Amino acid sequence: MTLRIAIPNKGRLSESTLDLLDKAGIKVEVGHERRLFAKALGDRFTILFVRAADIPEFVEEGVADVGVTGYDLVRETGRDVEEVMDLRFGSCRLSVAVPAESKWTRAADLPDGTRVATSFPRLTSEFFAKLGKKVHVVEVSGAAEATPHIGVADAIVDLVSSGGTLTINHLREADVILASTARMIANRTALADARGAEIRQLAFALESVVAARGRRYLMANVPRARLDEVRRILPGISGPTVMDLLDNRDMVAAHAVVDEKSLYETVNALKRVGATGILVLPIERLVG
Ligand code: AMP
Repeated sequence: MTLRIAIPNKGRLSESTLDLLDKAGIKVEVGHERRLFAKALGDRFTILFVRAADIPEFVEEGVADVGVTGYDLVRETGRDVEEVMDLRFGSCRLSVAVPAESKWTRAADLPDGTRVATSFPRLTSEFFAKLGKKVHVVEVSGAAEATPHIGVADAIVDLVSSGGTLTINHLREADVILASTARMIANRTALADARGAEIRQLAFALESVVAARGRRYLMANVPRARLDEVRRILPGISGPTVMDLLDNRDMVAAHAVVDEKSLYETVNALKRVGATGILVLPIERLVG
């Protein structure tokens, strides 16, 4: 049986998706020119390269069994697919933005009749309907941030990550409609039949890569007499692994998985209790 996986052929999610599959042991031969599809792990997987925005539809219709795309697109298309997993990359938010000099601070301040340009008409209409506002949604296929300046719209709804694009275009974020990250989605029928087991195995593999992100493997030789302190410094998953050293009774080897964010402090703290030979290694996968 071959599982068909739809992934973005270009754009912001494309490289990270290929990297994720690669780390999970699924090497996709991309070649120089992006192809429409490729095989991976022999006949086990067929990778379909398609537009991120089309992936919810392709997965719902069964053109692909699973797909990777943004949560914003899953919600905007309203397609009936199973959300299998948050892949925790491609973070952004769908926000309402207004001209920087405008008197409006929140979306609730916008008067009825406001023209809102967006490539997310469905989520935008839903959002303003919930606020009880009768706005006029102007559908654009991209570059919504330019529309207030050319008199096409009074406000926009668009994806924001750093906020840099809004600033450059003299816009100010007024409200967040939705927070988004990349998701693994699956076709409901495929999940329920013989393909289900293969989909769950794939999810498990991707989960282990996602769990390893931001984590490092740390090894150090530490004084046996100070193990209590070492345990406090190195939380690990279930405490550090401690091993005897062959020729040194006073020191032991301590290994642990540590958070990248606390790495700097952890290494300093270990030095303070007399650790030597500190090694920090990358982790590709973490199977819980
Ligand atoms: P693309 O338009 O093909 O680059 O891909 C768009 C998808 O990337 C969106 O639907 C989001 O899920 C995700 N994304 C992450 N950050 C951003 C951002 N700052 N702007 C637009 N899309 C983003």
